[in-house]
Amino acid sequence: MAEARAACRNVEIALVLMQFIPYGHQSIDEEDIKAVVEVLKGDWITTGPNVEEFEKELANYVGAEHAIAVNSGTSALDIAVGCLGLGPGSEVITTPFTFVASSNCLLYNNLKPVFADIDPKTFNIDPEKIKEKITPKTKAILYVDYAGQPCRIDEIKEIAAEHDLSLIEDAAHALGAEYKGKRVGSFADVTEFSFHPVKHITTGEGGAVTTDNEELAEKMRMLRNHGMDKSVKDRFGKDAGYVYDIRMLGRNYRITDFQCALGLKQLEKIGGFLKKREAVVEAYNERLPNIEGITIPYVKEDVKHSWHLYNILLDKNLNRDKFFKLMRTKGIGVNVLYIPIHKFSLYAKLGYDGEGLQNTSDIYSRIINLPLHQELSKEDLDRICSAVEECIGECKG
Ligand SMILES: *Cc1c(COP(=O)(O)O)cnc(C)c1O
Repeated sequence: MAEARAACRNVEIALVLMQFIPYGHQSIDEEDIKAVVEVLKGDWITTGPNVEEFEKELANYVGAEHAIAVNSGTSALDIAVGCLGLGPGSEVITTPFTFVASSNCLLYNNLKPVFADIDPKTFNIDPEKIKEKITPKTKAILYVDYAGQPCRIDEIKEIAAEHDLSLIEDAAHALGAEYKGKRVGSFADVTEFSFHPVKHITTGEGGAVTTDNEELAEKMRMLRNHGMDKSVKDRFGKDAGYVYDIRMLGRNYRITDFQCALGLKQLEKIGGFLKKREAVVEAYNERLPNIEGITIPYVKEDVKHSWHLYNILLDKNLNRDKFFKLMRTKGIGVNVLYIPIHKFSLYAKLGYDGEGLQNTSDIYSRIINLPLHQELSKEDLDRICSAVEECIGECKG
């Protein structure tokens, strides 16, 4: 029965993927499904042993002392920023070339995002541009490891040390990535990961913050649970009392136990997932440079890239939007990641205009993200590469 169901599921997935190859896709197997169902049959379906176990394994994998799991990467960013206690109105320097959550988390905490331009090769925030944006109000730097390539972290840390700034790393793209031989997860004061289905491992929705700082970890555990000073465990059982205090304004960002059971199984497979992604990248890197008019991703020597995204840049004489449309028509789920944050009307209303963000504008006008996930077959890759070649041809002149 289970086998028949699995077979049906695989056929369904295959049919969908034949028509349209999405840019990201989760990998869920029968073992994952079994782990989730087991939890659903038990007593603790939220805030139980699987949450703690997942946190322990995640912290262990990234090499951090603590992990705090929550219901999304966005929630993780919110408590990561919130636990630092930066005064209202303080400025935080960040990149405009990222998913909007990286900046919205600052707005949630009454902080002012200040955008510094990106490096035109890695698309990561440029440390030199960070320096230009520092004012007496600057209190932190929030850097994003775009596509899974760690930033120039040592330089960013030096700037932070010199100006006494906190550091937040948005590593939503960078689970398993390494900088100078060490895994991302404890370079900044707080590091955020996301377990959305397009990311390396998934819990459906979900995220986590890792840190080496016990005090910050304690604060984040409160922030995810209404600001409460006692955990569910502290208040359960014959000897427990009912009293608790609310110490700060927290939210309900708790993740369920069955999600964490899934997370645990997924984390066991991260090594294979990363290898599969590398193989896809190798296939692209072999075929795409032969096509005139595109540039493949640049990788620094001091990193291990975790390949959340694979992006190409089109030459300036090629019409990116036309290319995008042609590829989509062929059923290839190309994407444009990202629309710079200052371009959104919410941010325009707040007074952001993109001044001084020349590299960001240029990259945004030329970038295309090709599908990259663990489920891509050799046939898919052939189809994608042939489509790129044909569509580039049509975009010339
Ligand atoms: C995915 C992502 C997040 C978090 O997103 P959620 O969907 O809330 O998990 C944050 N920052 C970046 C750069 C992301 O790509």
